[in-house]
Amino acid sequence: MTLDRDAFFIDGGWAAPATTDTLQVVSPHTEEVVATVPEGSAADVDAAVAAARRAFDEGPWPRMAPEERIEVVQAFSALYAGKLAEMADLITTEMGAPTSFANLAQSPAPWMQIEAFLGIARAFPWEERRPGALGPEVIVRREPVGVVAAIPPWNVPQFTTISKVVPALLAGDTVVVKPAPETPLDAYLMAELLAEAGVPAGVVNIVAAGREVGAHLVAHPGIDKVAFTGSTAAGRTIAAVCGEQLKRVSLELGGKSAAIVLDDADLAETMEGLKFTALMNSGQACVAQTRILASRRNYDTVVEALAETVAGMAVGDPADPATEVGPMVAQRQQERVEKYIALGQEEGARVVVGGNGMPEGLDRGWYVRPTVFADVDNRMRIAQEEIFGPVLSVIPYDDVDDAVRIANDSDYGLAGTVWTSDADAGLDVARRVRAGTYGVNTYTMDFAAPFGGHKASGLGREFGPEGLAQYTELKSVYTSAPAM
Ligand code: NAD
Repeated sequence: MTLDRDAFFIDGGWAAPATTDTLQVVSPHTEEVVATVPEGSAADVDAAVAAARRAFDEGPWPRMAPEERIEVVQAFSALYAGKLAEMADLITTEMGAPTSFANLAQSPAPWMQIEAFLGIARAFPWEERRPGALGPEVIVRREPVGVVAAIPPWNVPQFTTISKVVPALLAGDTVVVKPAPETPLDAYLMAELLAEAGVPAGVVNIVAAGREVGAHLVAHPGIDKVAFTGSTAAGRTIAAVCGEQLKRVSLELGGKSAAIVLDDADLAETMEGLKFTALMNSGQACVAQTRILASRRNYDTVVEALAETVAGMAVGDPADPATEVGPMVAQRQQERVEKYIALGQEEGARVVVGGNGMPEGLDRGWYVRPTVFADVDNRMRIAQEEIFGPVLSVIPYDDVDDAVRIANDSDYGLAGTVWTSDADAGLDVARRVRAGTYGVNTYTMDFAAPFGGHKASGLGREFGPEGLAQYTELKSVYTSAPAM
């Protein structure tokens, strides 16, 4: 079955592209082209924004009662649930996520988000009557924000698309999605499910394109809000444009999170946990905890345990269920990770596992060797900059205060974990680290709670009622004259 496509999803149907430009989706494992799809141009984005604008300004969607929209999203959820395996396979094909990760975070997780948002929408205070300060009552309404530009990255493409499209739908917004050029295929499957679920024409429109066309979408006068997930560099540019135009904006950006290993941690459980929290999606995860903080007293033991754990991880074909670390998404990403592995050595860090070059037994594909650096100072670039690959730095600390100081000594503040057998000590550390999400002996995003970053890791939140609220505008309606 071919994965090729020749149209965009605009105004409820398949629209011919404005140009003959194409995007080639290349397997990171075989380096062979697996699909060709049209590449969006500014004209395609204009058509998508016009359709979304019409659907918002004149269509039924924003005017429907929240319960009616919930019913349509419920139908979408039921259809999505039947496609989980197909979605996971598509994402493994287009971006090389190991099947073990794809069947967890790439596919069921977006569907779990939809279900969580449905529950949140049912309990959401769409129109609230509260006691007034001057009169007896005031009405506070949460109304749709307008036309949303949703811009996801390639690393968790459906996860970050659904986290925007579904709250936007529930709020009564209309959307233009611009998938990353590396990962357009999952969005086509999503479009088919939205159409089948009965989402009205123009409410969701999808045009895959590169960053220039993305910038055109962000600056488009027809857009009311931008919801972006991606690099901090792109986030700054987008925030500047939205600031100038006073558009609403939410940003989920990069990270350089720390896992603090306290001396009383169960080392075997900690290592098992770090395999996921530090190296999920082959290290291509914004929340990856790539700085491992170990006390000076316990430093050699932690380095040795981590070296053994990482050396034992299965690297190779992402479609093999046994694989734990797959290829990087693209050659440029492989080159970037290789540069950081060389830089760490130039900076004086010591490679204890991995290093430059292809992993043993592999001679094609955009692979790197999972690498652990010891003797890392937190001021080194490998400890400050987001590498976005399977490269870990073990950093020594003097005491718990010093560990918290090092964890906070970062431009980023997205996530983190502490590993300890003392739950109270763990919670104490969790309260002191400046990060939007934190785990004690575990790290799982719970869609009932807000997710997002402090500092350069972002602006605003996704998930939870707080995430849904970001797709609404507040309106206060005064119905009673003040009692003077
Ligand atoms: P990227 O910033 O290069 O691109 C992200 C998306 O934005 C792509 O669709 C791209 O085409 C588009 N884009 C880039 N510049 C743009 C601009 N100026 N205007 C409009 N669109 C633009 O990031 P990437 O390499 O695709 O993804 C990796 C990054 O994403 C990492 O930094 C990672 O930490 C971050 N990320 C963050 C989260 C989170 O929730 N905080 C989740 C996943 C990934």
